Amino acid sequence: MSTDSPTDPAPAAPEPAPEPVLAHELVPDPVDYGSGPATPLADVVRYRLARAQGFAVGMDEFCPTGDDDVEHNVWGAYVRSAVSELHLALLLAELQAGTPLEVAATRVPRYIEDGGAAMEWLWEHGQRLGVDLDRVRAYPLAAAIGRDAEDSLVEYRRARELAAKHPHRIVPTLEEDGRGVTWEAFCDAGPEAWCRATFDCGCESVVAVERDEQGRWSHRTAGAPDDEPKHVMEPGGRCHQLDFLNADQSLLPEAYTGGSTPARAGRIVLTWEGEDYSWDYADEATS
Ligand SMILES: [Zn+2]
Ligand SMILES: [Zn+2]
Repeated sequence: MSTDSPTDPAPAAPEPAPEPVLAHELVPDPVDYGSGPATPLADVVRYRLARAQGFAVGMDEFCPTGDDDVEHNVWGAYVRSAVSELHLALLLAELQAGTPLEVAATRVPRYIEDGGAAMEWLWEHGQRLGVDLDRVRAYPLAAAIGRDAEDSLVEYRRARELAAKHPHRIVPTLEEDGRGVTWEAFCDAGPEAWCRATFDCGCESVVAVERDEQGRWSHRTAGAPDDEPKHVMEPGGRCHQLDFLNADQSLLPEAYTGGSTPARAGRIVLTWEGEDYSWDYADEATS
């Protein structure tokens, strides 16, 4: 007998997983903070469990990318929020389940020290009270430190990434009594950077630039045959790119090749034009 007769209904497509939501969208905060009748503890616990989950899943997302103090401190604020949310949620859940306070008060911190056990326990309380914690998505960093603080951290990170990628910056200075504007370019690159490798071979145009294992740069004269020995460059000198650009500071604005934009201090991108460098603001450059 055939098991797939044409009258069998097609197997049902699996239901798509529901979109993850923020904790308070899944369980609204039931607490009226003292202005109305008492809120049943089970309702408070349901909300607290979802909230704790929302912070806990966010911990992975905001793992610091650098070793910068500011980033670590902000990250630390999020972690502390997440731990205190978890602590409160588990404590209230235990009390609501009938655990005596003195037992819960010692058990909860012990579980929190073992992060995995605490999360499992949170999930079990969620099951018990009918809260589907799997549906909760991470709270953003702003939930712990505020929207303005998150915005300024994002801006700070962006500026840091821009500075790491573009070590050169330009600064226009308005001279005393309106005697004009002086432009100057600065290099913040470390001694290992290509722009700080010095060479006195006199090459104006270099090709096949390389850095060996000892950190020494080398190049070949443009147009030289491949078997000609390369010219070695010493690391850690003055920025030779800016030596070109700063040679006549009155010409700095003329070396600008970008679009119309407010004159300001900022990170720049340098482009070799055959005889000298041109520059564009790094945050506006298209390449
Ligand atoms: Zn050379
Ligand atoms: Zn440089």
